[in-house]
Amino acid sequence: MRTQEKEKLIGRKLPRAELGLIAAIHARTQHLPAPRELIFGMGDDCAVLRPLRGEDLVMTTDLLLEDVHFRRAWHPPESVGHRALARGLSDLAAMGARPIAAYLSIALPADLAGKWFDRFLDGWTDLADRHQVPLAGGDTAEAPRTGGKPKMAADVVLVGGVPRGKALLRSGAHAGDTLYVTGKLGGAAVELRDLRRTSGSTPDRTPIRISKTRDSSRPHPHLFPQPRLAVGRRLLQGRLATAAIDLSDGLSTDLNHLCQASGLGAIVDRQAVPLAPGASLKDAADGGEDYELLFTAPPGRPLRSVSGIRVYPVGRMTPKAGSIELLAEDGSRAPFMPRGWQHFRVARLK
Ligand code: ADP
Ligand code: MG
Repeated sequence: MRTQEKEKLIGRKLPRAELGLIAAIHARTQHLPAPRELIFGMGDDCAVLRPLRGEDLVMTTDLLLEDVHFRRAWHPPESVGHRALARGLSDLAAMGARPIAAYLSIALPADLAGKWFDRFLDGWTDLADRHQVPLAGGDTAEAPRTGGKPKMAADVVLVGGVPRGKALLRSGAHAGDTLYVTGKLGGAAVELRDLRRTSGSTPDRTPIRISKTRDSSRPHPHLFPQPRLAVGRRLLQGRLATAAIDLSDGLSTDLNHLCQASGLGAIVDRQAVPLAPGASLKDAADGGEDYELLFTAPPGRPLRSVSGIRVYPVGRMTPKAGSIELLAEDGSRAPFMPRGWQHFRVARLK
């Protein structure tokens, strides 16, 4: 379809075919203020971005698949929309980046194109408003009707900006650095377990709605994780951290990534790992999806909070590459194996 025709159609009320959906997406997201880098967003064949002088762009993409990353019967549509955006924002946070634009490509079963999708957009825009993330484009298709029940799939691309050459990497840690995590861990695993236990509820009648005040108490760490963008930016701007990664797969697995990238080992003090209410050490270590940050900082000046978020020292980096150990109360040490989430290994939502 030609650009002018598309532009004429965007913003007008149309039936919920492809163009109607795109119009709805546009109408629901165009109020978001665009940063200077975004010259032109939705409505043409491409968005136009102009990086600021002295900045690097960071980009990330995340898939969100029905029955892999969410279930209709467990996750209210607001949560699906929120999580679709939160995962990439958490990656930006881990780089110390400021969000510039998001892209949303979706394959949508026809029966989700109405109310379900409106509620998906509620969840998306609530989080996009909070972090000022304009939607710069995407693609919309109907999920195939052949081969059983059509399933929803989304791919979300995020673009962010960092001062040139200053992105917070996984590889910058030094031996002796203190290991920190933001917030308490394992809450997402606890809430996912609850969802699994109470599953079978009708997806459209689930009572969970978005609460504007949920941030401080974090009552829904799985359904509505809060990416630590302000913390990441402060770590970068204040040169507080030497390396960072976001906790998407679980402390055990993500610490392994950080150690590998930095060519170091680590010792984690079991007693020091901050546990969310109801969470076990296993939930914190292997549960994943907490979307907190794991970062390293020089040991000289202990940190208690960053950008108003409590941070907890959980261990230290060691020079022994590949050796990651858990220190027990009695002083004994055991290997801290990466047992977090890996695709192709187990089915997460079973
Ligand atoms: P084209 O066929 O040239 O790729 P489309 O008709 O798919 O264009 O899209 C028209 C405009 O709407 C483009 O600016 C595109 O980025 C935007 N768009 C399409 N789907 C989405 C979506 N799911 N989210 C955000 N923007 C979208
Ligand atoms: Mg297209």
